[in-house]
Amino acid sequence: MRSEYLPFCRHAIGEEEIAEVVDTLRSAWITTGPKTRRFEEEFAGYVGAPGALALSSCTAALHLALAAARIGPGDEVVTTPFTFAATANVIEHVGARVVLADVEPDTLNLDPAAAEAALTPRTRAIIVVHYAGHPAELNAFTALAAARGLLLVEDAAHALPARYHGRLVGSGTNPVAFSFYATKNLTTGEGGMLTAATELLEAARPLALHGMTSDAWRRYERGGSWAYEVRSPGFKYNMGDIQASLGLWQLRKLTAFQERRRRIVALYNEAFAAEDAFELPVARPGIEHAWHLYPLRLRLDALRIDRDAFLRELAERNIGASVHFIPIHVHPYYRDRYGWRPEDFPVAYDAFRRILSLPVDPRLEDADAADVIEAVLDVARTYRR
Ligand SMILES: *Cc1c(COP(=O)(O)O)cnc(C)c1O
Repeated sequence: MRSEYLPFCRHAIGEEEIAEVVDTLRSAWITTGPKTRRFEEEFAGYVGAPGALALSSCTAALHLALAAARIGPGDEVVTTPFTFAATANVIEHVGARVVLADVEPDTLNLDPAAAEAALTPRTRAIIVVHYAGHPAELNAFTALAAARGLLLVEDAAHALPARYHGRLVGSGTNPVAFSFYATKNLTTGEGGMLTAATELLEAARPLALHGMTSDAWRRYERGGSWAYEVRSPGFKYNMGDIQASLGLWQLRKLTAFQERRRRIVALYNEAFAAEDAFELPVARPGIEHAWHLYPLRLRLDALRIDRDAFLRELAERNIGASVHFIPIHVHPYYRDRYGWRPEDFPVAYDAFRRILSLPVDPRLEDADAADVIEAVLDVARTYRR
């Protein structure tokens, strides 16, 4: 058994990031400025986006995408129950109604047929989530959005970098929101990025900074003007150069990080394939998975313990694991506001009851993965029915 506790996720900030932050702190400018602009350009270049807007979080990016498209009271937005609360919260933030549709049993991504069935004359947008890093069925959603005149927003918090039939997630013209939260594939501690067509980004950029016509950096440059106008009551969602300093280096290391994630996933897949108490995560043909998460589903009828006890047994063996996600419709706010019952979205609820996420961060050595595998198999064998 492993002697030291292995946390579920550790960040991979290195000396280059630290030196870049120090360089920023010694410079004249510590908030949104030249490094943030450079990070936006390099990020857009990496995913092949028409443009990018660096923000304080992915939540901010999702909120701005809806706000810039003037989605609000009286409108409905269709999304998945199998996601983090932020995806649904932003719909509430703009005053629209959350409409949930169930997920596909294999990928746990929003099911295009279920989403189509949930559309009404009030639907304005669909938010898909690329769960765990597996792209949602973008061809189906793009066609559906075009046919019904809807905005297609992608919550790509897990999907950096992910590819759907040759195209990187974020390379289209619709709004795509990325997260640089501490646990995500690329981290700036806190942060996010919105990619989209230039017109949408131009509407979103002032909204991210109080609705002001020109940002502070430009105002305080030599030759800059003190004057500005507020054209709408915007938000305070800008990223600063300290975060961007981290992002610039994390982006350069991303390819190596992904190689490490794929290696861990290959080790897990090989070790767990023969165990009939497990249902392994899938990667459909034609996609490239970002492997933000390694979600393992238990076959509860093959075990004498439930998922919660399985997690406790792993912790006793010094392995940190987690659960992604408690579905939106079982959280008290959403349950009470919309009157949802757990069985209203049966695929998502069934997955929630038997899913757990194993560590897959790039700091894992092969020996760490071997410890995880040993513990997981030991729990399954000890509690086999
Ligand atoms: C992490 C996460 C978010 C929120 O990201 P922040 O950058 O913390 O706002 C949104 N959606 C999903 C699916 C996430 O996992």
